[in-house]
Amino acid sequence: MKDLTKEIFTMLFLLTDARYLLRTHKFHEGGRYLPRGELMRILVEIKESLKRVEDIIERDDYLDVGGMDIVEGLEVRTIEEEYININPIQVGGRLTPEAMKAIIAYADGYSVCDWCLKPFRLDRIRRPQLERFHKELAEFIGMREARLVPGARRGFQAVINSVARDGIVVVSSLAHYTEYLAAEEAGAKVYEIPVGENNIIRPENLEEKITEIKRKMGEEPDLVIVDHVDYQYGNLHPIRDLSRVAHEHGIPVLCNCAYTLGIMPVDGRKLEVDFIVGSGHKSFSSPAPSGILGIGDEYVERVLSGSRIRGDISGRTYPNKETSILGCTLMGCTAVAMMASFPRVKERVRRWGEEVEKANHFCQQFLRIAGNRVLSEMPRRHTLIRVDTRESFDKIARGHKRKGYFLYEELRNRGITGIFPGATRIWKLNTYGLSWDEVRYLSETFIEIAKKYGIEVQ
Ligand SMILES: *Cc1c(COP(=O)(O)O)cnc(C)c1O
Repeated sequence: MKDLTKEIFTMLFLLTDARYLLRTHKFHEGGRYLPRGELMRILVEIKESLKRVEDIIERDDYLDVGGMDIVEGLEVRTIEEEYININPIQVGGRLTPEAMKAIIAYADGYSVCDWCLKPFRLDRIRRPQLERFHKELAEFIGMREARLVPGARRGFQAVINSVARDGIVVVSSLAHYTEYLAAEEAGAKVYEIPVGENNIIRPENLEEKITEIKRKMGEEPDLVIVDHVDYQYGNLHPIRDLSRVAHEHGIPVLCNCAYTLGIMPVDGRKLEVDFIVGSGHKSFSSPAPSGILGIGDEYVERVLSGSRIRGDISGRTYPNKETSILGCTLMGCTAVAMMASFPRVKERVRRWGEEVEKANHFCQQFLRIAGNRVLSEMPRRHTLIRVDTRESFDKIARGHKRKGYFLYEELRNRGITGIFPGATRIWKLNTYGLSWDEVRYLSETFIEIAKKYGIEVQ
């Protein structure tokens, strides 16, 4: 761990200890319950923590702080402080500074429930302004209603349980495993749309699949799930055209925007879909587990219906609680962290074009290395990139004493991390959020490693 990183964590922890003292010895003026002497003692203790922070700041050299485990077995995570991270699933979920601050302020369990008044629902809380956030979020994604859910998978689950329980769900053959499991949990069968040319899901493939299902099963599917951008190739699929095919058959469409909502523009109305599902921890600079479920006009009542159950003894009912999402979903810092990231997220989706430019720049450079291939569609329309290095880095791996780990280690030694340890054949990276300087450095580093091992570079 670099010294500066260590120092910053040390200071954060000292401040945390000071804050904890404050919490455990109430300093509320109206309710002083400790003897004055005791209060003074605590104050001195707090000041001492703050003084130690000051000492760290004032030192010219770096402080050599010892082990940094929070509790035994729980180390501090410093990857984002110390490395350029190109991990395909992590880059869009890195927190904004506002989200970090929200977590500091709202980390206690049911922290957003202080002002939860009738009808006692997360999306109706006005302090903090979660109600407004939900409304703005629905607008942002072009849907009638929006709800926060613990991960995209819980969004699939809520929709499938509402419109396709024990039914038939069509997914693409590039679908994420959570789509299959959400269907399974709801007792639904899954059928896959084959991929067309270039690993793109084509409308005609969907049409054929629906016809085939009808012929074999005697009924039409209850739901079609299409990935806006799939997780395997990072390819952008023709959602509106796919949706039109499904709608001709009267089948609702869920667009899985796990890799898009929060990093590129997503508008459910333009896509002509009935549901939008996004992942907070993948693409919305939010902590896990978090996600977004957007619902179009026609399905609001079906998916967000109030509970109808009644206790047989108490006679209690919960008509205000939405059954499909089990009432409330993200009851604390996850919800406010999403809200805190929202302004920057709105801003960053407008800069998507430049992110794609950087991904294309990387690909151009990466392809200068003899044997390298990009398996994703080209030019790139997304920053997730699937590459094939079987004819380049994998050949080196075969003769290297560290085998496949050599590439991971060469990158790591140069301050880059996030590729799968041991991967030298077919693997993925994501350039999202890197600055131009970082993208250039990343490209040059691959070239430098290639040259080091005698791979030709054009
Ligand atoms: C990551 C991912 C998911 C799962 O998202 P969670 O928010 O973790 O549930 C679903 N679908 C796709 C395409 C993904 O890439």
